[in-house]
Amino acid sequence: MKMKREDVRNVAIIAHVDHGKTTLVDALLKQSGIFRENQEVVERVMDSNDIERERGITILSKNTAVHYNGTKINIIDTPGHADFGGEVERVLKMVDGVILVVDAYEGVMPQTKFVLRKALELGLSVVTCINKIDRPEARPMEVEEEVLELLMDLDASEEQLDCPFVYASAKSGFAKKTLDDQETDMAPLFTTIIEHIPAPEGDPDASTQLLISTIDYNEYVGRIGVGKVDNGRIRVNQECVIVNHHDPDKFRKVKVGKLYEYEGLNKVEVQEATIGAIVAISGIADIHIGDTLCATEKPEAIPFQKISEPTIAMNFMV
Ligand code: GDP
Repeated sequence: MKMKREDVRNVAIIAHVDHGKTTLVDALLKQSGIFRENQEVVERVMDSNDIERERGITILSKNTAVHYNGTKINIIDTPGHADFGGEVERVLKMVDGVILVVDAYEGVMPQTKFVLRKALELGLSVVTCINKIDRPEARPMEVEEEVLELLMDLDASEEQLDCPFVYASAKSGFAKKTLDDQETDMAPLFTTIIEHIPAPEGDPDASTQLLISTIDYNEYVGRIGVGKVDNGRIRVNQECVIVNHHDPDKFRKVKVGKLYEYEGLNKVEVQEATIGAIVAISGIADIHIGDTLCATEKPEAIPFQKISEPTIAMNFMV
């Protein structure tokens, strides 16, 4: 039976370059007691960018996870640029909502529109964070109007138009639900995310199904497939099959190596994960974006088509 993981929220963060995405994620991490500075040494050691470039693997997302009042919030980064082969859609298929970060002075910029349009087409909920309200020339109310106009231009649904606004200075580490509120910390953004973005849904007792949305790479464990558990459970060492919607009759047997979930800026090993969890899977050398990892007894690919194709509205309804 389908159920909701009320203790999890999966959100993607959308922003024009320099509007403060990194600073905002850092502010959320800091409130959870995690400091990026502590991570830097490890990050540098682990940095495998050169290897990735050599092998032609593009890393499109750096995921983080924070906890607030017993809820785990997975924050998925989105590429802001034009999309090659549906990566943006696949990343967005992991989440139930987006945080739209807009600079309180610069306002709506072209780069945010592309990803926002796709998020709206997928029916995702939106939380808008008007950032940098500490800037002397900030004009948050005008920028809020610009965002509402953009949502209308992009044919947002009524529910999407009813999006909450949070006003923040990520740099100073505070967010407020109205401009008149007292400045405290990032709590207003955490609570808005938890209240407004739906919990992920799935059937934990069904056969395992997980769409690989991004590929990561680590020099110690090789290729890592990243995706959300859509149905069932996934375990370390589990025998699975991989199917791809391009060729649904063809499948191959694989074995899960290690399994990780995101905590702060790190991946931590777990033994098992269930619906709604965003996991990273190592041990499958030729895993690719768009593959579905399934239970051996039920090799069913998760349908995936680019949203721009006319038939897609139907596919996403089911
Ligand atoms: P990203 O490209 O969206 O990840 O943006 P960054 O987080 O790297 O921020 C871009 C620049 O804006 C940096 O110089 C930040 O220090 C600055 N910035 C981010 N948030 C704020 C804020 O709330 N107020 C002000 N005044 N500057 C900010």
